[in-house]
Amino acid sequence: MRSNTKSIVILGGGTAGWIAANLLATHWKDKGLDITLVESPDIGIIGVGEGSTPPLKTFMEIIGTEESDWMARCDATYKVGITFRDWSTKPGFDEYFHPFLCQPDEFSVPAFFHNSFLRRKGVDLDGHPSQFFMAWQLAKQRLAPIAPPNFPFEMNYGYHFNSGLLGEFLKEWAAKKGVKYRQATVTEVVLDQQGYIDFLETDSEEVIKADFYIDSTGFRSHLLQQTLRVPFDSCEDVLFNDSAVVFPTEPDENPEPQTISTALKYGWSWKIPLTSRFGNGYVYSSKYVDDDDAELEFRQKLGLVDADIEARRLKFKVGRVREHWYKNCVAVGLSQGFIEPLEATALDMVQETVVRFIEAANNGNMTDKYRDDFNNHVSKRFDAVRDYIVCHYRINTRTDTPYWIDNGNNDKISRSLREILAAWTQGKNITDELKRQNLDAYFPSVSWNCLLAGKGIYPTQEQVRPGSELALKYDLKQIASYLEGCALNFKPHQEQLALLQSAC
Ligand SMILES: Cc1cc2nc3c(=O)[nH]c(=O)nc-3n(C[C@H](O)[C@H](O)[C@H](O)COP(=O)(O)OP(=O)(O)OC[C@H]3O[C@@H](n4cnc5c(N)ncnc54)[C@H](O)[C@@H]3O)c2cc1C
Repeated sequence: MRSNTKSIVILGGGTAGWIAANLLATHWKDKGLDITLVESPDIGIIGVGEGSTPPLKTFMEIIGTEESDWMARCDATYKVGITFRDWSTKPGFDEYFHPFLCQPDEFSVPAFFHNSFLRRKGVDLDGHPSQFFMAWQLAKQRLAPIAPPNFPFEMNYGYHFNSGLLGEFLKEWAAKKGVKYRQATVTEVVLDQQGYIDFLETDSEEVIKADFYIDSTGFRSHLLQQTLRVPFDSCEDVLFNDSAVVFPTEPDENPEPQTISTALKYGWSWKIPLTSRFGNGYVYSSKYVDDDDAELEFRQKLGLVDADIEARRLKFKVGRVREHWYKNCVAVGLSQGFIEPLEATALDMVQETVVRFIEAANNGNMTDKYRDDFNNHVSKRFDAVRDYIVCHYRINTRTDTPYWIDNGNNDKISRSLREILAAWTQGKNITDELKRQNLDAYFPSVSWNCLLAGKGIYPTQEQVRPGSELALKYDLKQIASYLEGCALNFKPHQEQLALLQSAC
């Protein structure tokens, strides 16, 4: 990057490109930069990616939008977490909820940690996570996470949305911030003598030139991987899935504010509620099942065997580039890598990449002084997310197909994950272990505790002994009534969505 950078071209108009455009135009509005997004009219966007995490709410706030500006337009619903179903065969653990933590949980999480910790040590306590979280009450009762003004706690949530509609909304929003838009398919990328991108050539022989380039071309990674030849490190040895089949189904009138992830024979399926439909997808490994059999299994699950609905089939690769910022180009989105969608973390990664890039460029006075720090930070985040997702598979207890058995026996997991698992089974404090490994900024300790406890990685009921009075210090009935009491403050999800509809 050169200190006299005056122009940026963002190549690609998927969600990643438009998030980047909005963030750059917001944070650098005083720099007088010329920002242009170029998108091919012939190459479509991937068109999946409808679940998010709470940082998307922060993104919307940073770029200055209100929920009433965009949610109804994008068929959006609220999301307070994910239910994982059928991942474990341990009695009592056939499903659990991974919540987005919010302030009311501060009173109930200590009880979860206490029970879970002692249960690991063989004390007969209820360590199933879901019951300790406010978000679970909302999900169960189908309530929206919007608190009335007199509610004394802060809430935290994400969204589900139609990704195509969100892209259109973000495109309009970016235009208001001065981002220029151009339709063209880039066919050639010309480098200068130092190997920096000099200009792009389009299929109509136009030339597009900028000082700096953002590669948001999806899995093609036209600039960073194809042209600049930055290596891609696959993680297919620990994440076996490489395919998905996708169907829409009829929506619920009062949708649950959560994603459902159900383990199937060769992978897992998502069920994402939008106001206009459910998005359903089966993510599987083509090494274990062929595409037709996977589609049939999923149709059977959804009751669509005879339905005249065409499936969309997708292929993807998991892993990340070795450097996200190289020469005068940063890759953002699928062009920089993808860790499969189990925890809906991809857009969070997009946002983090762009925000950290802006920070690094600012700190270096628009030079690449902090490029290595940036690359290390983004790669570390990818690897931390990868390990959390890998853990889902590694600790599954299904034995119905070779897919699940191989996942459960996979010895290629990282040393970091191995140490977290060892800490858990040896009854050590997971919070300390994450701190020791400097991982607590990624998935927090509560998330790791939910994952391991939720899959029932505990001594069995036969191995536990009754708890002393001290061990029984938390009354679970009291916790339930506290969370139920908090939930009384919230409106049905449908009602809150209708308010947004009428405001738009
Ligand atoms: C099965 C699956 C499920 C997913 N679920 C989730 C989820 O729940 N949550 C989540 O956060 N993420 C999810 N993701 C990831 C998410 O879909 C992506 O991160 C997100 O859509 C951003 O994609 P993108 O913008 O990087 O790429 P794309 O949407 O593929 O956009 C690429 C853009 O580049 C343009 N382009 C490409 N080549 C050229 C060229 N030569 N010239 C000009 N333009 C070009 C195209 O026209 C297009 O506009 C999922 C992904 C998959 C595969």
